[in-house]
Amino acid sequence: MLQQTIEKSVEVTGIGLHSGEPIRLILEPAATDSGVRFIHAYSATEIELKPENVTETKLATVIGRRPNSISTIEHFLSALYAYSIDNLKVTVFGNEMPVMDGSAVSFCMLLDEAGVVKQNAKKSVIVIKKEVKVEQDGKVALLKPAKSPKFNFNIEFDHPVIGAQSFAYNFSKSSFIKEIARARTFGFLRDIQYLQSINLALGASLENAIGLDEHSVLNPEGLRFENEFVRHKILDAMGDMMVLGSTIIGEYSAVASSHELNHLLTLKLLESSDAYEVVHFGTKVQMQELTKVFA
Ligand SMILES: [Zn+2]
Repeated sequence: MLQQTIEKSVEVTGIGLHSGEPIRLILEPAATDSGVRFIHAYSATEIELKPENVTETKLATVIGRRPNSISTIEHFLSALYAYSIDNLKVTVFGNEMPVMDGSAVSFCMLLDEAGVVKQNAKKSVIVIKKEVKVEQDGKVALLKPAKSPKFNFNIEFDHPVIGAQSFAYNFSKSSFIKEIARARTFGFLRDIQYLQSINLALGASLENAIGLDEHSVLNPEGLRFENEFVRHKILDAMGDMMVLGSTIIGEYSAVASSHELNHLLTLKLLESSDAYEVVHFGTKVQMQELTKVFA
């Protein structure tokens, strides 16, 4: 399998979740082996997609150093993972990605509009060879060997609509579009009110998140899936693993993981040189099965 980029430049403008301002996003094709690069347009700062460049993980995954950083990259990155994009220039006119509808579906549509093209260089993938695990306050995230990408997530919220949810997901591009891409982020009214009091989440609305009060979902249209919450956690985890810049061939499992724990998992993986191998797709990796999942 070869490296991929997009066929033509595309752009979209959407609201920033935190600033509440319109954010313009431009995607452009990039050369082989150049990776995914974010451009913070107002400062002309280039930020390479890699775990060392993640600087904050509290409310979202943030890349680059303030004030030239870009927040909430994870939903966009899950779409790059699903579309198997290796090389891309991502120019952002603001300090965060546009939130769109709070899921990855708009980014998938943008990539569809741009078209995906193969390039003349072999794709690299990260093959997990040994389990790597991080734990924090009862939360767990791990990566272990598997023949194709899998994501398992368990959450438990003391809330009547969420409760305990678990989802075991075998990745393929087509199943991502059907089962994961449309799952939206969610927030509790009490948290949003607090965040807005400190000038965060100013763009948050029922147009770009599932809103919950103490008892119920506030969105008049309801949920897109009964277990939309855990599906969104898988979407986040895929985006957070994509920070590694390559597709992972392995199984991710988590209990109540956060952006912070996902980030720590990528760092621990990179520190554990015996736990993974970067290989060219088509040499050591079993081709046939995997070509299908990215088709
Ligand atoms: Zn999210």
